[in-house]
Amino acid sequence: MRSVNLRLLISIVALLALALAACADEPDEPEAPDEVDEVDEDEPVDDLGLAQEGVIVVGSDIDFPPFEFIEDGEIQGFDVDLMEEIAARLGLEVEWVDTGFDALISQLAADEFDALIAAMTITEERAETIAFSDPYFEATQALVVGPDSDITGVGDLAGMSVGAQDGTTGEAYAEENFTDSTITSFPSYPAAFGALEADQIDAVLADLPAAAEQEARSDLVVTEVIDTDEVYGIGVQQDNEALLAAINDTLAEIIADGTYADIYSTWFEGDVPPRFAD
Ligand code: GLN
Repeated sequence: MRSVNLRLLISIVALLALALAACADEPDEPEAPDEVDEVDEDEPVDDLGLAQEGVIVVGSDIDFPPFEFIEDGEIQGFDVDLMEEIAARLGLEVEWVDTGFDALISQLAADEFDALIAAMTITEERAETIAFSDPYFEATQALVVGPDSDITGVGDLAGMSVGAQDGTTGEAYAEENFTDSTITSFPSYPAAFGALEADQIDAVLADLPAAAEQEARSDLVVTEVIDTDEVYGIGVQQDNEALLAAINDTLAEIIADGTYADIYSTWFEGDVPPRFAD
């Protein structure tokens, strides 16, 4: 053993000598400034107001494909990949907490987690209670119906029952605009789509990416897209400016270096929206 190590050591010394000789031949280059201030990406960042060092506890409603869902026993989706990437770049592990969508904001405000990501639209009302990151996704609403439905769009909804998920922008839009319809709220979008498939309701209003995913997974059909001009944000506690800044800086990096585009194309077809393209 000892002789092998010795031989290895000799080889390394020889290689180092060669490398030094090569460097010596090169013209002097200006020395790079010391990067003492740079955060070491492998080190946990402990000034982000996190309850546990090195861990970011993230709340979500893990039942909203393709953003967050469990398949093959694994949590996956666009939001999951994005959040894991942000956390990794901050030297943090993600600990996921699954809860109901309509409980997310109050639970974040009550410090039950450090952040939330849940395909959550940034709204003024929500921003009274929590702080949102810069936008990370663009969405609209879409009306979904059964394969043999006579409903061709929102103009046909009078007297119909329309489903949506509790506490969502889809539910709020339906209540405000479909005043001649009965709005039924479900604890999750899969539950609403299930009721539509079972003919218990006539239509579902949901975010377009989730509606399109449902169309691909079943014989339900997206019959009209309603341009509500929504953007999603990651939520943090209102007083946690350090975490908000760290998330925003990292998100900007992820967009600029093309990682966002890679994650996007894992989950969605078509071009990355210009504001998220590198
Ligand atoms: N984007 C919608 C909202 O914020 C729906 C999100 C969801 O169902 N997870 O209300």
